[in-house]
Amino acid sequence: MNIIFISAEVAPFSKAGGLADVSGALPQQLSSTGHNISVVSPLYSKINREMDSIRTTGIGALIQMGNEDVPFELYNFDHNQSDGPHQYFIHNDDLFGREGIYTLPNGEGFADNNFRYFFFQKAIIKLIEIEFFKPDLVHCNDHHTAMLPFFIINRKMEIATILTVHNFQYQGYFSQDEGKYLDELDAQRLVDIPSENRSSMYLGCTHAHQVNTVSPTYAVELLNIKELSYELHSTLNNISHKFSGILNGADYSYWSPENDTFIKHQYIASNLFGKSKNKVDLQIYCGFKNYSDKPLIGSISRLVENKGFYLILDIIPDLVEMGVQCVFLGSGMDDISQSLKDFANQYPDNIFYEGRFNEELAHNIEAGADMFLMPSRFEPCGLNQIYSLKYGTIPLVYKTGGLADTVQQWDGKNGNGFLFDQYTSSELLNMIQQAVKIWDDKKQWSSIISNAMEADFSWNQSAKQYIGLYETALEN
Ligand code: ADP
Repeated sequence: MNIIFISAEVAPFSKAGGLADVSGALPQQLSSTGHNISVVSPLYSKINREMDSIRTTGIGALIQMGNEDVPFELYNFDHNQSDGPHQYFIHNDDLFGREGIYTLPNGEGFADNNFRYFFFQKAIIKLIEIEFFKPDLVHCNDHHTAMLPFFIINRKMEIATILTVHNFQYQGYFSQDEGKYLDELDAQRLVDIPSENRSSMYLGCTHAHQVNTVSPTYAVELLNIKELSYELHSTLNNISHKFSGILNGADYSYWSPENDTFIKHQYIASNLFGKSKNKVDLQIYCGFKNYSDKPLIGSISRLVENKGFYLILDIIPDLVEMGVQCVFLGSGMDDISQSLKDFANQYPDNIFYEGRFNEELAHNIEAGADMFLMPSRFEPCGLNQIYSLKYGTIPLVYKTGGLADTVQQWDGKNGNGFLFDQYTSSELLNMIQQAVKIWDDKKQWSSIISNAMEADFSWNQSAKQYIGLYETALEN
């Protein structure tokens, strides 16, 4: 199949969260099974064009955006490999050459995000129209690319479309006024669509041949729990015949303690000496002076409400009281960030906080921490708990979505982590207290670590399911 995979972020070139990890790894896996994959994302300023061998193809065009003609140029990445997906980038520095991908440093979204991603998607349509791309199938990801199935159907292009939704919280609403950036043909079709449905995600869900999300449990929850699918609850139930959940995988060539080049001491399940050395290095990095035999809990996350930070903030004094140490890495909402800073200042021997994107530290937290805290209120899939399992860093999670699909409660013999199922800070604290108690029993703890490190969430299985989904979409 000729497939174009469209995403607003693609690791290792650009990354704000898990979408980038998936957009980096899944096309790689699909192309290793013989499909011809082109991945397209915007060319952000953070991408180092010289070092990454990213050059212009000389192809470009003007895209009409309201009364303006806005230019783009297509770049590609020369990876010097015979296999692997082709990587393309849409270049326009006014729109994409900014410090952040979607937001200002304080977490506030750019005011022209709809303009930016309409433009991005219209550039893709242009590249199909001029037959630079001749796809059998277009795989769209999240609301930034969810208009494409609508555009493709409106133009009667014979191309199958898939929309993968990595998070239903962000639906890409646009105003009547922003509708003027659409082509006449698309704008006319909007007339019949009620204004409460004027979102990229609604149009993507109703026009894509197949829609999926990134874990089976989240898919079921979305159909049943209105608060999780937001305004799309009835839409999703109407399209349930073409809606499914496929669990994300992990790229173990990049996220595995055996071969992680970001960490100083590599290690394997049968010899965890390297892990203990990484723990001490991490404690030194955090400026902790106390190396007593207490668990170190890691957290790597965007600072947003649904990742569970309000519960965590409630119990930090209790954790300090218990003597555990916590390292938080993440940026996002100002109030959460400020509270973490305050706690780090108040408890310098127990709490550390770094408020920026730091790939190297993320790997060192996975490798050095004993436990990984991820009490998300909802979680489409979650990747960090999957990475944590591979590093023997035991996940402490809320029983929801992809967390429930990947973490099993330790029962004294089986299980790879700890879960709580009432969403309150006291239940979170109970779970952590239980884990800390078991941590003291080294025999039990080493069994949990073995179970965790054995779990296999490589992309192999999931990529096969995507190919099945592509085939169904093509049949449709
Ligand atoms: P989400 O996609 O909702 O942000 P995931 O758990 O699926 O959550 O993926 C988050 C990804 O982003 C992981 O690879 C994680 O390591 C990474 N990440 C998040 N914040 C940071 C940060 N501040 N520094 C480095 N990596 C981060």
